[in-house]
Amino acid sequence: MYFGGTFDPIHNGHLQSALCAGQLLNVANVGFVPCHITPHKDQPRTSSQHRLAMLECALKTIASNPTGMNVHVEDYELKHDRSSYTLHTLQYLRQLHGANTPLFWLIGMDSLITLDRWYGWQQLLQYAHIAVVNRPGYLAPSDGVLGHWWAQHRASLRDIAGSACGKCILLNTEEMDLSSTTIRRLIEQQRRCKETSLQITQLVPQAVAEYINQHKLYLTSDTEKS
Ligand code: ATP
Repeated sequence: MYFGGTFDPIHNGHLQSALCAGQLLNVANVGFVPCHITPHKDQPRTSSQHRLAMLECALKTIASNPTGMNVHVEDYELKHDRSSYTLHTLQYLRQLHGANTPLFWLIGMDSLITLDRWYGWQQLLQYAHIAVVNRPGYLAPSDGVLGHWWAQHRASLRDIAGSACGKCILLNTEEMDLSSTTIRRLIEQQRRCKETSLQITQLVPQAVAEYINQHKLYLTSDTEKS
């Protein structure tokens, strides 16, 4: 299973979703895929190097997780100085794993509802299954092109057993109301209130909070220049 994201910064919602999804899908490996140049969102606040370093810190903290799953960074997008399109990444991953290996690309519900704006979105299922985790405040698409596509391709865990790609699956994972935006805002607010200690340790792994502190990340607001 692979999980793509900006990870600006990686937070406990990402980690919990990935571990729960991996468990439900019964996968042995979870690859986190940090994007380099985001085609669908504003450019990340921090450099790819900082986002990668925070991801590595976070993965160390879950390396010996109770599920026994192996977690690692897949740096394909970071190595290519162009827009990070999931379609290109999936084409690479399919080639890497061969035609018959089941592959899952994990996304949150907020990403699913904008999927029809992704480059080559209707080709994605040729290379992987799309696994979706719920996110508070977002409902599955029910109408329009995307609603139709979702209804057409949605399958159960049993339906997809052993198949390599081609279906969407909604995973019943515990929801966590947390985003990178919340964390960035929290840090910026604390800076304005002149608080010195970071209060984000419940939201990101301790090592990530320390990295943010050490490198003085996110001290300006999303709308100010860093
Ligand atoms: P931002 O607030 O900057 O938009 P984010 O918290 O949404 O960031 P991303 O790195 O953009 O994080 O998300 C990567 C993937 O993780 C997306 O598919 C997103 O839907 C999913 N995701 C992020 N946070 C959660 C969460 N709390 N629960 C489930 N999925 C999540």
